[in-house]
Amino acid sequence: MIIPSRFRMDVAGNLSLIKEKIRIACSKRSPDLANVTPRLVAVSKTKPPDLIISALDAGQKNFGENYVNELVEKGNHPDLKNRDIRWHFIGHLQRNKVNRVLGVPNLHVIETVDSEKLAAAIDSGWQKFRKQEDDKLNVMVQVNTSGEEEKSGCDVGQASALVKYVLENCKNLNFMGVMTIGAYGYDPATGPNPDFLSLIKCRESICRELGLDKSKVELSMGMSTDYEHAIELGSSNVRVGSAIFGERLPK
Ligand SMILES: *Cc1c(COP(=O)(O)O)cnc(C)c1O
Repeated sequence: MIIPSRFRMDVAGNLSLIKEKIRIACSKRSPDLANVTPRLVAVSKTKPPDLIISALDAGQKNFGENYVNELVEKGNHPDLKNRDIRWHFIGHLQRNKVNRVLGVPNLHVIETVDSEKLAAAIDSGWQKFRKQEDDKLNVMVQVNTSGEEEKSGCDVGQASALVKYVLENCKNLNFMGVMTIGAYGYDPATGPNPDFLSLIKCRESICRELGLDKSKVELSMGMSTDYEHAIELGSSNVRVGSAIFGERLPK
C-alpha cells in the first residue's frame, strides 16, 4: 500500500521547528547555563525505519529507543546500520538483556543505569563488544525523581552512591550524567517541574559529595510536552518522540 505523502509525517519540518524552539529556550536560560548546547534525541520507538531515515536525511544523529528487541532490530536494519547514527537506550534494562543491547551497532549511551548490579553487568559485558581497548561506553544514571513505584530509576538518595560505584568500579564505562522521566502530565504553566528541580538538586549533591565538576555531569530531562521548559532549567539532553514522529499507537 502506498500512503499518499500528505498523510505522512513531515519529520524534517517537525525537526526544524523543534530546533528553532530549542534555540529560543536556550536564549531564556540564566547566564550560568548559557554555555550548554542541548542535544536533541529523536525517540523513534514504535516508529518504522523509513521515518528514522527521513530524520537522518534531515541531519538528525541521536535516536532513542526503549525496547530491547526494537533497538536490536533497528540497529541492525540494513538501511540504518551503516548510517551516522547514535543510539540512546532509554528503557528499563534487565540484566539478562544487557548483551543484546551492547551488540547493537552504533550504540552511543545507555541512559537507564539504575543499580550497581546492572552497572557491573554492562561494564563486564562491554569488554566483549567494544571495538578498541580504550573505547568506553557512555552511561547515565536514571533517577526516580517522582518516587512512583512503577517507575524505574534509583532513589534520589541513592544516586550519589551509584555514581561513585560506576566511577570507581566500572573502568569500561564513561559516566555522562543523570536522567529522569518524571511524573506524566505535569503542566509547566504551574511553575518549574518538581521532577526537574529534583534532578538538578540530585546532580548538585553528586558533584558536592564526589568532587565532580557540575559542567561535566549532564541532565537528561524533557520530552515532547516539556523539552523547552527542561532546557530553560538546564537540561543538556532532551528526548523528544511524538513531536517529531507523530503520536504513537498504544502498545
Ligand atoms: C517515549 C519516551 C520519550 C519520548 O516521549 P514523547 O512524549 O513522545 O516525546 C522520552 N523518554 C523516554 C524514557 C521515553 O520512553
